This record gives sequence, C-alpha cells and structure tokens, in this order.
Amino acid sequence: MPTSALWTLKQARALFDKPFFDLLFKAQEVHRQHFKPGEIQVSTLLSIKTGACPEDCKYCPQSARHSANIDSERLIQVGQVLEAARKARDSGSTRFCMGAAWRNPYDRDLPVLEEMIKSVKALGLETCMTLGMLNDQQADRLAKAGLDFYNHNLDTSPEFYSSIVTTRSYQDRLDTLSAIRHAGIKVCSGGIIGLGETINDRAGLLVQLANLVEPPDSIPINMLVKVRGTPLSNTEDVEPFDFIRTIAVARIMMPKSYVRLSAGRESMNDQTQALCFMAGANSVFYGCKLLTTPNPEEDRDISLFNKLGITIERISTNKSDAENMDALTTKIVPIETRQYYNAAG
Ligand code: SF4
Repeated sequence: MPTSALWTLKQARALFDKPFFDLLFKAQEVHRQHFKPGEIQVSTLLSIKTGACPEDCKYCPQSARHSANIDSERLIQVGQVLEAARKARDSGSTRFCMGAAWRNPYDRDLPVLEEMIKSVKALGLETCMTLGMLNDQQADRLAKAGLDFYNHNLDTSPEFYSSIVTTRSYQDRLDTLSAIRHAGIKVCSGGIIGLGETINDRAGLLVQLANLVEPPDSIPINMLVKVRGTPLSNTEDVEPFDFIRTIAVARIMMPKSYVRLSAGRESMNDQTQALCFMAGANSVFYGCKLLTTPNPEEDRDISLFNKLGITIERISTNKSDAENMDALTTKIVPIETRQYYNAAG
C-alpha cells in the first residue's frame, strides 16, 4: 500500500513480488470493498475506420507501416454504426465503443462523429470512442455531443515506450488523457502485456495510470495478440500467471476503477479467465469478432459466465440484470466482420 498519495515503482513492484495467493487474496479483498463480486460490465466494439494508420505501434496490424493482411476501410456511415449498436444493445451490452485507426481525428470528421455519439446514446447505450490523439477543443466537442468514455492507452512504461512506438510520445498520450478529463469525459486507459517488457515496466505502467490526477475510470489490460506481419509477431508468450498478477496489482492500485480483461481473452482458457475475474477484472468485451484479434465466441462466454455465477452489470437502460443476461443468452449477435479491438487507441 502506498504510504503517500502517490504510488512508487518500489511499492508496485513489491505487489508483483508477493506470493501468488497472497496477491490474489488482497486483490479480491480490495475488489469486494468497491464492487459486487461476480458482476461484470459488458462492452461491444465496432471499428468505424479500419487500417492504413500512419502510426508505427509495433503490435498493431492496422499500422500502414507493417505488412499485416487486413482490409482497410474509410469512415463508415452513421446508419451502419446504428445497426451494430442496436444489435449490441439487444444482445445485452451496455456500452458501445467506436474505434478509428487514426493518428488523430481532423476537425472535418467531428460532425459525423458527433452524430454517431448522439445516435448511439439515443438507443440507451453508454458511448465510448477511441480515435487517437485529441486536442482540448475536439475533446470538448465530443463531450458536448454526449460522449461518456474515451479510450487512449498508455501501452507500457515510459521507459519501454519508445521501443514500441516512435510516432507519438508518451507525453502526447498524457496530454490527450488530460484533454479528455478536462472535457468531463470518463477516461479509459490501460496497456498491453507481452510486448517484451520487464516486470518493472508492467509496474511502471500501473504507477503511471494510478498516479494520474484521477486514475482511469476503466483500465483495459490487454494480452498481446501476435499478428503476422507486425514486428512483434514472434515475441515470447506471457506466462498466464504473470498476466493474472498484472490484473491483481491493477485492482489493488486502482480499487475503484473497472479493470477490463481485453484483447487476448480468446487465447485464454476458462481457468485463466476465472482467475483474472478473481484477481479483480470486472469488465469484458462481448459479442465481438475482433477485426484482427478474435474474441471468445458468445456461447463460450455465456457458458463460462454461468459456470462462475457471473452477472452482467446494469446501467440506465431500464433492463434488469435478468433481462440483460437473458438477452445475452438468447439473442446471440451474429459476428460482425467490422468489430475489432483497437489496442492502443
Ligand atoms: S494502435 Fe492505434 S494508433 Fe497505433 S497503429 Fe494501431 S490504430 Fe494506429
């Protein structure tokens, strides 16, 4: 536990070094102080502009600088977004995330983005966007349109960052997070495990997130999905227990934030996912055929949720938990080819 208001690397590292069961016990204790055990928040993702991104994030198949085999697509129409959002809502999702593979949006893009936000909100869904870097004016405009969350990940520690991304700086990312927070939009920011980072880098990432003026409301912890054609396609696998540890440390350091089990969930077996939930993960993406990184099929999720007694968190959609769960179990969304996970944002 921190002895001052801010976490230090040493304190975070001490958590990583705890015996596994002590760490999990502590994380579960902290989790139960702030959240209902066994309840998770469910989001759905849609790519609204795919590929041809000018940035060079080494893990990302959407970068135009790598040779991953994906079909690029221009910004899609509001009607297509609405159709996907309706399906997500009817299948039990409470938040709809829209991602564009951009360095940053241009002001000319804002009217259509504002329309997307307003239309999705009108369906009773929470809205989230990930569009790259934002300036203060752009963040204000999205906030005024009603955007609830903005995703912009820090990816890794400041020390390791330049080994992964060179086209935008760590400070650029912090500045975007600051613009989002000032605009009154909830912050979604996390990172990726498996980039070749050390345990200190994992601790360093969590220290950065926990020491923001306010910790992120939502923290996606991604396991690298290795995609052929990206520079990290041959990186060594992460030991699942190390991934679970990272979730547990995030839970302890940011007790009130939602910790999202994000990209890479497809490759995890049920037992690993269960331990992640035990360690404090309480948010997932559901119903997504991730563009380049598949997510577990819906019926596998339903089966796991049932086995573990997991219920779906309700928001102000006027649906009860039972109705949300019922929707999840009975109205399985056909897999959409556009849905994906943008790991960096
Ligand atoms: S992670 Fe985002 S910013 Fe980086 S290359 Fe991919 S789409 Fe572009």
